[in-house]
Amino acid sequence: MHVMFHRYGQFAGGIDLPDENASTIDQPIGMVDSVATLRVPLAPCGTAGASPVVDVGTNVQCGERLAAAPGPGGVDIFAPAAGRVAALTTAVVRHGRDLLACPAIELTDIHGGCGMGAAREVRDWRTVSSNTIRQQLAEGQIATSRPRPEPLIRWVQRAVATACQDLIVNAMENQPYITADHRLLVEYGPQVMQGLAILALACEARQVFLAVDARRTRDYASLVEPAIQYSVNRVALPHKYPIGADPILIKVLTRREVPLGGRPTDIGAAVIDASTCLAAYRWVACGQRLTGRVVTVNGDGVARPGNVFVPFGTSCHDLLGETDAPCVLGGPMTGRQVDGDAVVSPACESVLAVTPTPHAPPSQCIRCGWCRDHCPVRLNVAMLNDMYELGDVAQAEHLGVTACVGCGVCSYVCPARLPLTDRVRRLAGTVRHHRRSMPLLSDMAPSPAAEADR
Ligand code: SF4
Ligand code: SF4
Repeated sequence: MHVMFHRYGQFAGGIDLPDENASTIDQPIGMVDSVATLRVPLAPCGTAGASPVVDVGTNVQCGERLAAAPGPGGVDIFAPAAGRVAALTTAVVRHGRDLLACPAIELTDIHGGCGMGAAREVRDWRTVSSNTIRQQLAEGQIATSRPRPEPLIRWVQRAVATACQDLIVNAMENQPYITADHRLLVEYGPQVMQGLAILALACEARQVFLAVDARRTRDYASLVEPAIQYSVNRVALPHKYPIGADPILIKVLTRREVPLGGRPTDIGAAVIDASTCLAAYRWVACGQRLTGRVVTVNGDGVARPGNVFVPFGTSCHDLLGETDAPCVLGGPMTGRQVDGDAVVSPACESVLAVTPTPHAPPSQCIRCGWCRDHCPVRLNVAMLNDMYELGDVAQAEHLGVTACVGCGVCSYVCPARLPLTDRVRRLAGTVRHHRRSMPLLSDMAPSPAAEADR
């Protein structure tokens, strides 16, 4: 009998977080209720907007090209549903830890979204060369679903250029509420494994890993045979946040550390997610464009929690319905609060409506050391907080502030309720800016949100 998943090790620091996913984890992926309007973002990769190739008033079909990429850093944009081009507008999307206001095409008279229906294979990708696969991926114009999306072909080219040793699918998904990748692996496991094999061929990776939560492995029986067929190492890791942060996961799996300010590919590792693997399979094998993604809709302010396939450009308001709870794009630890007008893009794995817990205002640091003890990269966060208050960027750099993975653990554990994550992030941003040019004092100004609590 085959070993389903190998169990791996741990990392120092981190915390146990509640799951808060009982209402979504066993529910099959559904379809979003029909929406009246989509605002399809034209710059999901954070570049200049793609150039529209359709006029206002045109009727378009699902999957039809709406806009042409602005250059190699962006992707072409395709209609997520049949409808009429009503206007050129703007939309707010998530991009990494930031929000981005980008140009968008408004579609109305929506009828017939592209959906997640069964896809028939029209190409045999198993018999073609790495070069041919890369060419097909380039034609696919797929944006990755990582928090900071980029054209998939660009991610592949970087992996090839740095002689990718290890290709890792990060399906740890260990922030509360979120189960989108989990449901993808349960319902589309064999297709995700084929997408991973396609990317492994494109990247010419020597080893391939699928990393999942050790408590969920018995739900993934359907992907074991295809994983064996495509030589995918299946790894089950403990539920401890933030093991799903790429640098932490790479270190747990390979014992190699991403250098300060570097990328995983600098140490021969390339990390991707289940959603992008599925998109690669559906395009390369079935010729289906990427026009939406599976999103977890959850939180105490949501009437109907679940995982749904959502066309790009759907607003948070359409997903959440009427709610008084603040809307969060992304997870509760690393996501950003937005108004209901923000829209779903490739980087949006969850839309939450969670009522914040009332708490007292921040007080003075009491030197308990919890922030340092729990920081997964062992930063002296209390001292970095001092450096923030003193405006001492040079000392913050000396303390290694750019190693922060933005996990939010320090703020979560701090008994003084200091907005540590926001401050460390601002310090790290200023250090990076210093490295590129002269300092900008405005970079050190605390955000209104962070300082409102003071
Ligand atoms: S300093 Fe950064 S990496 Fe360390 S706990 Fe805080 S947010 Fe996480
Ligand atoms: S957890 Fe908060 S109170 Fe404790 S040392 Fe860190 S900053 Fe100070």
